[in-house]
Amino acid sequence: MIVAIANQKGGVGKTTTAINLAAAMALRGKRTLLIDLDPQANSTMTFLDMKAVTRSVYDAIADPSLSMRDVIIQSSMENLAVAPSRIALAKIEAKLVGELDAHFRLKDKLEPVLAEYTNVVIDCPPALGLLTVNALVAATHLLIPIQSSYFALEGTDDLLETIEKVRARPNPALRILGVVITMHDKRTALARDIRAQIQKVFGGKVFKTVITKSVRLEESPAYKESIFTFAPDSTGATEYYRLCEEVMDRE
Ligand code: ATP
Ligand code: MG
Repeated sequence: MIVAIANQKGGVGKTTTAINLAAAMALRGKRTLLIDLDPQANSTMTFLDMKAVTRSVYDAIADPSLSMRDVIIQSSMENLAVAPSRIALAKIEAKLVGELDAHFRLKDKLEPVLAEYTNVVIDCPPALGLLTVNALVAATHLLIPIQSSYFALEGTDDLLETIEKVRARPNPALRILGVVITMHDKRTALARDIRAQIQKVFGGKVFKTVITKSVRLEESPAYKESIFTFAPDSTGATEYYRLCEEVMDRE
């Protein structure tokens, strides 16, 4: 499956989910490719030494003579490869403006390497621009992280509208795999309220697994690790492992 992790809201847990979902898949023995489409390159930094990143997914998308294979780097984790990001990705909109296939670049470049991976996870930037649209066109499934916060559902209308546009033409097969509630604080009544609100809008699409707020999850990228090696016995590790199981069950 090709799962795009998208929500144009910033800081809702896209990257944390992409990193740990991809790691969980790899741990389960699935050949997994993590594509970092965010110029902030946070998922790249978690798994790769930036000094080793000479080419990024930007180069593969922008340069007709390069293939995805030219940019993919095996991570230190077995079964996990990364198509890295670099800040240059931010220039992609300007680069592709006026190109007729601008929305299809990622899909076209990904096709030749798909046979090598069971799963592809795409970490999207916090915007509904060309990069996120490229991810939605290339993906088979969309996973939406929603932060358990007062304005949780703000902006989801725009996201759903973009999904419908992508479904109408370039990618009718795109399915919403599910919504994962992140940074949840079980102790507060507000958090329970927010969960109920999200469930009202997305119904059965909401994953049973909720990701609670945890310092361990926040810390692990700084140590360049997924939660499974950084704190294997933590709640965060258990939750992301369960989320991975739910994701695979829904495929
Ligand atoms: P952006 O929109 O900037 O790409 P994002 O949606 O990818 O952000 P993350 O980077 O995953 O969001 O998370 C935002 C911040 O919240 C980060 O500092 C991250 O470490 C922290 N964070 C994510 N999930 C949790 C959690 N379950 N508990 C505590 N902190 C978390
Ligand atoms: Mg991010």
